[in-house]
Amino acid sequence: MKLLLAEDDVVLRDGLTRSLQQAGYAVDSAKDGVDADHALSFQNYDLLILDLGLPRINGLEVLRRLRSHDQGLPVLILTARDAVEDRVAGLDLGADDYLTKPFDLAELEARVRALVRRGQGTHSNILKQGRLMLNIAGRRVYIDDNPLELSARELGVLEILMLKAGQVVGKEQLAEKLCAWDEEIGPNAIEVYVHRLRKKLEPAEIEIRTIRGLGYLLEKVQ
Ligand code: CA
Repeated sequence: MKLLLAEDDVVLRDGLTRSLQQAGYAVDSAKDGVDADHALSFQNYDLLILDLGLPRINGLEVLRRLRSHDQGLPVLILTARDAVEDRVAGLDLGADDYLTKPFDLAELEARVRALVRRGQGTHSNILKQGRLMLNIAGRRVYIDDNPLELSARELGVLEILMLKAGQVVGKEQLAEKLCAWDEEIGPNAIEVYVHRLRKKLEPAEIEIRTIRGLGYLLEKVQ
């Protein structure tokens, strides 16, 4: 899952980027409103974390422009504790949730998980498919009660396929959700992750089918 973090405070931006990466997200960051507006116009994200006090274009304006063409992207706004009016304006403009600074990192991560989940149409941190269970919050996968060892990338691919179970997910879409703009994952790498996942998922009676020319489909073995 891929996030855009728009925050001008470099210490906070770098710290949050690292924490969110460790939590398994691909993170792009923007240092001001112009960068954020630009990134939102050409990339697909699963969540926007938006500081309202941004230079060049403020966060409320970034949000207003976003909502004029995209109603669906979940948005978490960050505001100063005393900025009640901004918070209200942000929610009225279509933000989904807010946090006031300073905030607790664990709370930010929980809100991020909740918003990303909701954006994908699920309300639980636990994804299940046959005998396979993925705990989004704990970044753990189990077959029945047995933990399954997966690399971060394999887990990322599996999470996306499980969230979209029953739908075909394209290789490009997988690559886009898995990496920030300073990284690159080619179609060959995606094939390698899927190949490894297939082997590891055999005991779970879960199949990742290749739909020629379209992508992958995760489903229970019939
Ligand atoms: Ca700021």
